[in-house]
Amino acid sequence: MNTSGPRRVAVLGATGSIGASALDVIARHPERFRATVLAAGSRVEALVALCRLHRPEHAAVADPAAFEALRDGLRAAGLDTQAHAGHDAITALAADGSSDTVVAAIVGAAGLDSTLAAARAGKRLLLANKESLVLAGELLMQAARANGARIIPIDSEHNAIFQCLPADPLAGGLERIVLTASGGPFRGRTRAELADVTPAQAVAHPKWSMGPKISVDSATLMNKGLEVIEAHHLFGLPRARIDVVVHPQSLVHSMVEFVDGSTLAQLGLPDMRTALAVGLAWPERVASGVGRLDLAAQGRLDFEPPDLQAFPCLRLAFEALETGGTAPATLNALNEIAVSAFLQGQLRFLDIPALVQAGLEAVPALPATSLDVLRDADAHARATGAGLLQRFAR
Ligand code: NAD
Ligand code: MG
Repeated sequence: MNTSGPRRVAVLGATGSIGASALDVIARHPERFRATVLAAGSRVEALVALCRLHRPEHAAVADPAAFEALRDGLRAAGLDTQAHAGHDAITALAADGSSDTVVAAIVGAAGLDSTLAAARAGKRLLLANKESLVLAGELLMQAARANGARIIPIDSEHNAIFQCLPADPLAGGLERIVLTASGGPFRGRTRAELADVTPAQAVAHPKWSMGPKISVDSATLMNKGLEVIEAHHLFGLPRARIDVVVHPQSLVHSMVEFVDGSTLAQLGLPDMRTALAVGLAWPERVASGVGRLDLAAQGRLDFEPPDLQAFPCLRLAFEALETGGTAPATLNALNEIAVSAFLQGQLRFLDIPALVQAGLEAVPALPATSLDVLRDADAHARATGAGLLQRFAR
């Protein structure tokens, strides 16, 4: 715990949707939080603009070719922020003394190394990068336990469960958890009605404003599948004790059921700043800028089961979790390839699950004995996915 001065926060994925929400909450409480590190993929101008506002000690871009542009941009802005570039530079900043808290908000498996580095360094880890848990959940949780890192989930569902769980882990009595899903922009459509949907339609989420990759994942329900795997690792529960219910209003963020028949839920408007404020200030509570929930004005809360026929990605994720070993890493990598191709207009919407399923059938699952085995599985799946793209390409 940092008791002397503000919490020093590294925001990795600063130019993204979660990055913006994190920086918004940080800026509301200068006496409590300070953004000391900002890191992004390749958008130097956007990163320099954030540096002007937040004046971090360090700024980093993953793209090594962007180093000069970043250094010169910071200098031109009159900032003494130190410039860094490259994947390894971001990993090093996640671990070093420039922060005590890391917001892991890089999208995709690219976030694994920095997330793991923060866990190994024993930092407070605000974990939005769910793909790192899907890819290497056991190793990541083990690294956090061994080094005293406190993981606070920054996924609305898992953050809700985190808030509903008893403070004393020995209290027991937990029966199961229920993840809510908005159902995405195509809820209620049949499989046939999904054949021609476009990337623009898929990223137009009805309730949440998010980056393009997770928005497509929400449209296919793969996001909920990744979240089931995420929940399995975060809360140590088997598949049989994790359920999914569709809740289109996205106001109940998830639920925890106890043996005595009690169900606890966390509610709030769909705005990730609540989860980030919880993560930054826990166990205290601070203002997040999110408005109040007015249930009478909302009128109703609906719930329905997910449609696994129209949205087979959720079933594929359930199966990958049950298979275990490297299967979730393979699922994740295939999905990243498929979503990227879909966003570029190279793949049809329904071919996302088709490619993932074909890839899972082609790449055998192995026991996940080490990080190297998982990295190999990720690489193998990406190569297989790239090959399959030829078959499915429109
Ligand atoms: P986004 O696309 O808006 O932002 C991604 C960020 O990652 C950007 O800052 C980008 O520059 C950076 N980035 C991309 N590739 C990188 C690389 N190779 N190295 C370093 N940085 C890189 O995405 P987002 O919606 O903010 O999501 C970020 C993560 O949070 C994802 O894992 C997502 O699943 C998770 N998440 C997001 C939300 C949400 O509401 N947006 C909710 C729950 C979980
Ligand atoms: Mg979520």
